[in-house]
Amino acid sequence: MRETDWTRVLGWPGYRVYQHEINEAAKTVKLWVRRKRGNRKLVCSGCGRKFAEAYDSYEREVRDLPCFEFRTTVVVELYRVRCPDCGVKSEKVPQLPSKAPFRQRFEEAVGLACESASVRRVARQLGLAASTVRAIDLRYLRRWAEGRRRPALRLMGVDEIYLGKKPKFLTVVTNLATGEPLWFGRERKKETLDEFFEKQLSAFQRSAIRAACVDMWEPFRQSLEQWVPQCRIVYDKFHILQHAGKAVDEVRRAEFFRKGGAARDLVRGKRWLLLTSWLHLDRGKRRQLNALFALNQRIFKAYLLKESLSQLWNYTYEGAMLRYLQGWIDQLRWQRLQPMEKLAPMLLDHLEGILNYCRTKVPMGVIEAVNGNIKALLRRGRGYRDMNYLLLKAQRLAASKTQFIVLQKAA
Ligand SMILES: [Zn+2]
Repeated sequence: MRETDWTRVLGWPGYRVYQHEINEAAKTVKLWVRRKRGNRKLVCSGCGRKFAEAYDSYEREVRDLPCFEFRTTVVVELYRVRCPDCGVKSEKVPQLPSKAPFRQRFEEAVGLACESASVRRVARQLGLAASTVRAIDLRYLRRWAEGRRRPALRLMGVDEIYLGKKPKFLTVVTNLATGEPLWFGRERKKETLDEFFEKQLSAFQRSAIRAACVDMWEPFRQSLEQWVPQCRIVYDKFHILQHAGKAVDEVRRAEFFRKGGAARDLVRGKRWLLLTSWLHLDRGKRRQLNALFALNQRIFKAYLLKESLSQLWNYTYEGAMLRYLQGWIDQLRWQRLQPMEKLAPMLLDHLEGILNYCRTKVPMGVIEAVNGNIKALLRRGRGYRDMNYLLLKAQRLAASKTQFIVLQKAA
């Protein structure tokens, strides 16, 4: 191949190949490139000012996409300019987005690979260190984030993810209309959410928020009331049912200790079955639960109560919803199931926010889907100590919808 052919396949606008070297044993291709004649516009990388004169030149070696089985590197001749504002500075080259030794399209390919595989796997495939791949991925995501428009926030979701270590919780703010996580905060205090409203949004942006879908977590409610008083608070179905699920579990544990022997074995390990909605159980699982219920009436009753509470969100009229809730609370009275009884005052204390579901339609599954994605990312890769990286990754995931898991739990 002649140098002009190499120039054609390399595809680097304004540059030409003037030397090449193929090493068959090592399976490498090395190309030397420099500016084409007439391509003399130099741009200061510090301020963007244009120059016609170069101060000096130097060479930089960067990795490009492989050529068949051959690992390809490009040695490019670059210039420095003497800028009145920045001093002696290297020129700006669009194909070289950072100081790292990679061409832009190589970084794009790595970033794309990281969307469907773990960092460690991509690193192994390309013969790079995991930390290098992570850094490339982060730059790729940042470039993507810079170049796009942010939709307005009208319906927001606030939720927390339990991390276990320090910080113990991650507060997640989501744009419910787009299903995209907007912001992560440490812990789940009032100050956490305050920080979002104060630093991330202008007064105008805050005034545009119509509704917020949240857990019955007092600090979040206080923050919302302070910063977005016009915003309607809607208590999330999923979270309310989580509380109901915990109550069922309390009943199960109490029965576990009350009964001995064979019955105890039957109750043991049924926690997840009891937390799952009947509709989502297969025939075998249903049979197991039925065996449990035949033996233990109290667990059966608690489970039925949880299931019937989830019907509350089938109503679209406030009056009907309120009537159903009142009926549900009334039937608690005869069951003598203390953990379930504790739910009643909690539901009544948050009645407005529960009924707001009828007044403002918010898409309910979104928060759970976003959380599921974040948890999947956390499980898949280490190195998310950098919260910005995790956020960008989750945003990209939501935007590309490649793995948008809509959890149907408690539907
Ligand atoms: Zn400059």
